[in-house]
Amino acid sequence: MSFTELGLRAEILRAIAEEGYTEPTPIQAKAIPVVLAGRDLMAAAQTGTGKTAGFTLPILQLLSTKPATARGKPRVLVLTPTRELAAQVEESVRTYGHFLPLKSTLVFGGVGIGPQIKALKSGVDILVATPGRLLDHVGQRTVDLSGIEILVLDEADRMLDMGFIHDIRKVLALVPKQKQTLLFSATFSDEIRGLANGLLREPQLVEVAPRNATAELVSQRVYPVDKARKRDLLIKLIDDHHWHQVLVFMRTKHGANTLAEKLNKADISAAAIHGNKSQGARTRALADFKSMKLNVLVATDIAARGLDIDQLPHVVNFELPNVPEDYVHRIGRTGRAGASGHAVSLVCVDELGLLRDIERLLKKPIEKIVLPGFEPDPSIRAEPIENGKRGQGQRSGSPRGGNRPGNAPKGAPPRPGQPQRGNASRGNAAQHHSGSRHR
Ligand code: AMP
Repeated sequence: MSFTELGLRAEILRAIAEEGYTEPTPIQAKAIPVVLAGRDLMAAAQTGTGKTAGFTLPILQLLSTKPATARGKPRVLVLTPTRELAAQVEESVRTYGHFLPLKSTLVFGGVGIGPQIKALKSGVDILVATPGRLLDHVGQRTVDLSGIEILVLDEADRMLDMGFIHDIRKVLALVPKQKQTLLFSATFSDEIRGLANGLLREPQLVEVAPRNATAELVSQRVYPVDKARKRDLLIKLIDDHHWHQVLVFMRTKHGANTLAEKLNKADISAAAIHGNKSQGARTRALADFKSMKLNVLVATDIAARGLDIDQLPHVVNFELPNVPEDYVHRIGRTGRAGASGHAVSLVCVDELGLLRDIERLLKKPIEKIVLPGFEPDPSIRAEPIENGKRGQGQRSGSPRGGNRPGNAPKGAPPRPGQPQRGNASRGNAAQHHSGSRHR
């Protein structure tokens, strides 16, 4: 199938061609006709499947062919769980709508509200927002949602995980009943179905293979290692293999900060990205990572979700996630768009149960490699994993845009490190100059 066959107008086809897309991805081939037909949609699709264009392209087509019912008010509202995802969606709207006279704007917390008010005042067709800041605007009467014709809930499962359900319900009460609704979610949990039941009218269901089914291009490895030796092992792997663009996952913000600091001390340029970082710091870190000024980006699951980094070669699970599905999301960051990728997990004795759950989900064992000098000490007993509460570690405090510069968690307890044993080679980190990594 081609994009032309989907019936998209010339201006949109031109923008797609400029992006270098030759054919629709499976989610696009399935979702675009549904949206163009004006139907409600419930789509199971994860980041990396091309879902953003799956809803953006037909929305642009609908808006550009149908006159607005209310002038100046937003016609489309896209709600996303995170600022990064909101920014990426809005960027896609701009890219694909480049040759159309439609206006989009972005509304999220953690940055000044003034410029957003100005942009909203100047009139906007497509509004991409995170729920908390959107409600702040509603409270200040700087946005009017009564003209919404199409509502998109992107990564709805994450929005529920992050505790946005009440905010979402408030937003739903503010948009017209008569509208088209598109719901995207990685999974169809009971909670999602509950939300969808009250919201969608005779929705068309669309499902594409989750990334774990399409991730054959990702080579997966587990390195069994003691907790206290993980950092040295990571440095050795980065050095020995000359990895230059590595996304490292941690369970906690504190852990992400500490690891980034230690890597920098080992002459590996790294930054942490999580909910306690200011928006400016997050945007800068992502830009530096994309342009390879930064070697390593250390992220929590929620911060990393939705990051659009093409063809990321290496993903490292410094700690396994508490939820096995998050493992699949994490490794979905690599091996995208036909490129091969590597996913490496550093697994200590505490995490063997989590590893078993992940292998059960994948329905296959993951190759294990014990690196000489990093053999786990069999006398170490498993300890309960800190921050075992599901997802709590990645919550960004108040979802209402409460993450401002300088409010990093004070007094967060350090991870209890185990006594350092053995003296295996720390690799050749010291021989590298940071400049050599800044490719
Ligand atoms: P998404 O799942 O929306 O985050 O998209 C993942 C990546 O796929 C983005 O980098 C898009 O630019 C890219 N993409 C989207 N549609 C296509 C397509 N039809 N062909 C090639 N790449 C695409």
